[in-house]
Amino acid sequence: MNQRQLKSFRELLSGRRQELLDEADRTVNGMTDSKENFPEPADRAALESDRNALLRIRDRERKLISKIDSALQRIEDGTYGICEECGEPIGVERLKARPVTTLCIDCKSDQEAEERRQRGA
Ligand SMILES: [Zn+2]
Repeated sequence: MNQRQLKSFRELLSGRRQELLDEADRTVNGMTDSKENFPEPADRAALESDRNALLRIRDRERKLISKIDSALQRIEDGTYGICEECGEPIGVERLKARPVTTLCIDCKSDQEAEERRQRGA
């Protein structure tokens, strides 16, 4: 991968990371605001399930941010775009679709086939 491509992936990943952080801020603010506004028990239950949904969203956001962080780290290390299983280039088209991936399409398919086998067993 050339420097120009690396730079554009770095920008893509940094931008996505910032978006996630902004969303996380909004989620926290939404949670504290709404707490006071729903004093009825039924509403509290609804609020509680909203809260759980929000916590799940935040958990996903947190995991994605940490994947983005390691992708950015790999850009710095010069290992970005290299499959961590087989050491072959992942391919720019695949990275555009999934910039945080660490596996080439072949290794990813192997991994998914292996997961299916394990679930089936
Ligand atoms: Zn591979």
